[in-house]
Amino acid sequence: MSPVEDPALERTAELLAGSRRGVAFTGAGISAESGIPVFRGEGGLWTTMDPYRVASIAQFRKDPGAYWRYSLENRRTGAEPNPAHRALKALEDAGIIHAVITQNTDGLHQKAGSGDVIELHGSSSRVVCFDCAGEFSREEIDRINRAQTPPPCPGCGGTYLKPTVVLFGESLPLQALCRAEVEAESADLMLVVGSSLQVYPAAGIPEKALEQGASLCIVNAEATPLDARARAVVTGKAGEILPQIAIRAAALRGAVRG
Ligand code: NAD
Ligand code: ZN
Repeated sequence: MSPVEDPALERTAELLAGSRRGVAFTGAGISAESGIPVFRGEGGLWTTMDPYRVASIAQFRKDPGAYWRYSLENRRTGAEPNPAHRALKALEDAGIIHAVITQNTDGLHQKAGSGDVIELHGSSSRVVCFDCAGEFSREEIDRINRAQTPPPCPGCGGTYLKPTVVLFGESLPLQALCRAEVEAESADLMLVVGSSLQVYPAAGIPEKALEQGASLCIVNAEATPLDARARAVVTGKAGEILPQIAIRAAALRGAVRG
């Protein structure tokens, strides 16, 4: 569908092109087309399992092995950015998007070239040891995990290795949260992509942007609790929609400048 055929898509491109400081807020849905399953929504992991079994800090402390067994069976490695990640980078190149606040831990925005990525829920590419505080690459620990589960720490031999992701029950990294709040306060437009907007405190960021007077545009496969307060809601796949928005917004921005 071309931009002019979808009024919400066209409206989003216009708002982006006319914005002073656009900021993106992304969730698991933007990486779905890279083959990484989402938690909530159609086909989401949470429809078939209990998140607290492997993804809560209380459970992890009791049995780190359960996390590493789950990782062994389910972790997707080798995922690549998809056209939606690349479209956000193109919007940055066009001077429209100034930062990407993400709930994702997959590193795909960085891989697509986005320059300022704020990771609210940490990163799955590093692992820390609770015993010796050593920090290791995920590849190294994944390799050890394939031979012995749970993996012993390469530094001290302990078995309390945890990826630097935020589990349920853990606080968000303070610096990332503060930076995201500053961005929400200074943005005049926030583009939400692929988030159910149900996970707090992260979902408070677009709410804060709204309260500060920013316009909200949402691109998501399903309805979200903030749809009614958004200036535009585009429903569908981010990998199909965002490239169209980026091309159209950059063209409109160029026309304004020219
Ligand atoms: P979520 O799983 O709660 O919601 C994902 C949303 O994306 C859903 O509303 C779904 O309808 C939508 N969606 C699915 N496919 C889409 C597509 N192709 N295009 C557009 N939208 C699509 O995700 P969330 O809001 O990010 O919150 C869940 C938590 O899960 C986050 O805290 C995040 O840390 C974590 N998580 C991260 C990853 C990752 O790093 N890729 C993957 C799964 C979960
Ligand atoms: Zn250690």
